[in-house]
Amino acid sequence: MTPIRRDRNAIRLLIPPEVIPILRELQAKQRLREPGIEGEDVVDLYYGMGPAYHLAFDGRVICDETDWSGDPNYEVADAKKAWYMIAIGANGFDCPLLRSLLPKRPPTAVTCIFCQGTALVGIPNQWFVCPLCDGLGWRIPGVAY
Ligand SMILES: [Zn+2]
Repeated sequence: MTPIRRDRNAIRLLIPPEVIPILRELQAKQRLREPGIEGEDVVDLYYGMGPAYHLAFDGRVICDETDWSGDPNYEVADAKKAWYMIAIGANGFDCPLLRSLLPKRPPTAVTCIFCQGTALVGIPNQWFVCPLCDGLGWRIPGVAY
């Protein structure tokens, strides 16, 4: 097994203690179908087409490339990518509590014009995380995304 490529700038999301038991329940259900990532204590955020993503219980988001491209797995250092994958996990695994790991909306933020602040786009029963705001539902004016 190829070790995870470490990144000293890896994102570390703060997981509130009250969220841990819920994530453990989700993890237990997921282990029935998917092995997770070897050697790491994670909950799955996404698997399917493309690389899989996992949230480690220490707050790292880990990209699992091995089954997809064969490239080494790596710790995500891009905050927007980490938030996006958290939002995908919340939506895909019906675990809205995951959204509590996302940054709080600052007072200067504006509601995302694409998703109207819902963080999701699509049609009923086929919702996708908004790619414009990365699942936050808001944006900071003047900040390039
Ligand atoms: Zn949006």
